Amino acid sequence: MSSSQRYNALKGVQDILPPDIYLWQRVESVARKIFANYGFQEIKAPIIESTTLFTRSIGETTDIVEKEMYTFPDKAGRSITLRPEGTAPVVRAYVEHHLHTLPPPQKFFYSGPMFRYERPQKGRFRQFYQIGVEAFGVATAELDGEVIAMLKVLLENLGLRELNFEVNSIGCEECRPSYRSSLQDFFSSRLDHLCPDCKRRYEFNPLRILDCKVERCIETRKGAPKVTDFLCGECRDHFEGVLSILRLLQIPHLVNPDMVRGLDYYTRTTFEVTTEHLGSQKAVAAGGRYDRLVEEFGGPFTPAIGFAIGMERLTALLKETGGTEVPSPQVFMASIGKRATQEGLLMAERFRAKGLWVEVGYEGSLRSQLRRADKLASHYVFIIGDDELSSGKMQWKNLRDGSQGEVEITQADEFVSSRLIP
Ligand SMILES: [Zn+2]
Ligand SMILES: [Zn+2]
Repeated sequence: MSSSQRYNALKGVQDILPPDIYLWQRVESVARKIFANYGFQEIKAPIIESTTLFTRSIGETTDIVEKEMYTFPDKAGRSITLRPEGTAPVVRAYVEHHLHTLPPPQKFFYSGPMFRYERPQKGRFRQFYQIGVEAFGVATAELDGEVIAMLKVLLENLGLRELNFEVNSIGCEECRPSYRSSLQDFFSSRLDHLCPDCKRRYEFNPLRILDCKVERCIETRKGAPKVTDFLCGECRDHFEGVLSILRLLQIPHLVNPDMVRGLDYYTRTTFEVTTEHLGSQKAVAAGGRYDRLVEEFGGPFTPAIGFAIGMERLTALLKETGGTEVPSPQVFMASIGKRATQEGLLMAERFRAKGLWVEVGYEGSLRSQLRRADKLASHYVFIIGDDELSSGKMQWKNLRDGSQGEVEITQADEFVSSRLIP
């Protein structure tokens, strides 16, 4: 045999292990429940897509497309990209499967890994997980308000408080050109103060300067024109409508005209949920409208809106604010001797069939088995040895309250049913 080799996970990715995984599972199960209440159905799209799906929709001059995509040729020479976000694949599926022929709105959610080649730093990963939703086919502000309300209900059901809902409207193809040129006017005399990326953005996509993270760009853009001052009549009405629905649904919110989001496909409403608990990585969830994307992918005009929640940040926040319960075995079968161990295995199978989590001792002294039962925080321990087998009884112990006793082996099924099955 060749010599052994140790491996570590790649830079910027992480394993999610117990007990943290229980936090992740809780988020997913609460999300599924809340999404179902609002009529969102699950969709599973592939992790790989054609590269142009993302370059077209997210935008050629965005950070994601310029710097962060995992793009590679497959064996047939096609350019493939690991999805950096979840919306474009869902929109692609929506058009490909003619879901626009179904009565609107069509509402979907997804959950899974996304990939961006970012500089690894605290709380940022190259493979990261998102739970997201997309709702297609309704243009009115009620849908925007309802989607934001659903996000709030979800985060509150998970136990989060002190959340800030920031909203903005970035206009439409009618009103954005005038905003764009007014931004260019503003930055034309300040070009020397911008980072090299922003100098390029100035030409092709000046809105992107507003979400550059370089310190001197943040400084330079102070006093830049606000997008909300340039909205056309329809966009202004829509935005006013969204704000009034948020008031109706009692969602405290802040209008943040600097929030443009890092993707080109957004139109009108954009929103973010932030918290003070995460330091500089403040946003837990973000989303917006993308009324033109279905058309851009070859479908009919279909207004749409969605959001995505960052699982790493959300679980970090939940951990900080109380964590989650880690499940433990309901029964531990400790056994001594071959015959007793086999009897214990059979009993364990019967208890599992009743829906209980049952651990068995496998091997080692009774002492070491009991130590393991205790470490797992097992509820009941049964102790069965060859002596017990011949007397037809075994010992039980409730590790939670310290009570103990004996039970006839033939009565064991009834015993666990009455004590452990509600
Ligand atoms: Zn407009
Ligand atoms: Zn910059």
